[in-house]
Amino acid sequence: MRYLVLADIHANLPALEAVLADAQVRGFDQALLLGDLIGYGAQPNEVLDRLSSVPVAAMIRGNHDKVAGGLGKADEFNPVAKKGAEWTHHALTPAHADLVRALPQGPLIVGDWIEICHGSPYDEDAYVLDGLDALNALRATRRPLCLFGHTHAPMAFLLAGDELQYRETAKDSVIHVMPGWNHLVNVGSVGQPRDGDPRAAYGIADDDRKDVSFLRVPYDVAAAQQAIRDAGLPDALAKRLARGR
Ligand code: ZN
Repeated sequence: MRYLVLADIHANLPALEAVLADAQVRGFDQALLLGDLIGYGAQPNEVLDRLSSVPVAAMIRGNHDKVAGGLGKADEFNPVAKKGAEWTHHALTPAHADLVRALPQGPLIVGDWIEICHGSPYDEDAYVLDGLDALNALRATRRPLCLFGHTHAPMAFLLAGDELQYRETAKDSVIHVMPGWNHLVNVGSVGQPRDGDPRAAYGIADDDRKDVSFLRVPYDVAAAQQAIRDAGLPDALAKRLARGR
């Protein structure tokens, strides 16, 4: 089994299309969706329609899915994120709103070696930003590989006993799941990367090889920006896509 790992798509259809095309060539069996399918981007209904034709092994909600679906408040969002969430809430068709509200809360266990969460295995909305956050997350995980999203930045931490390691996650790098270690891995964001690289980020987790590949693919940023501007969403959401910040 090869899992396509998609986090933080954020209603960016051009980015999702580019990732799916690239992943098709590499080959995958089923997808793992780590939440924030929508919010920020201008094509939430189109993204949900596109995902409906992708075989999915497991999916969970993100904080933006919750708010856009009407299950949470945008109080903790910054003004731009709040505007995006409100716009998305009104833009969703009733069927898509139902679908988003039905997304399960993470963490979720997927087979014997993978767990998925949006923010962290101890709190779906917590951010893993540094070593201390990673340590808390790694101590809470119940599988050797814990895949997460939410920060929109690729990163990997490993823990064995008291030894915590950080691993570089450049494009085409691979994290091998080693016996005796717990692995906390973010493959990055499909639709709103924030690590300074505007290319869409995704991953493939391979069951036979027990590894995770970090992948980047260019996409039509201008088309995603135009859709955001045409929708009347804040211009900052369009601009940041070109910077990958
Ligand atoms: Zn997100």
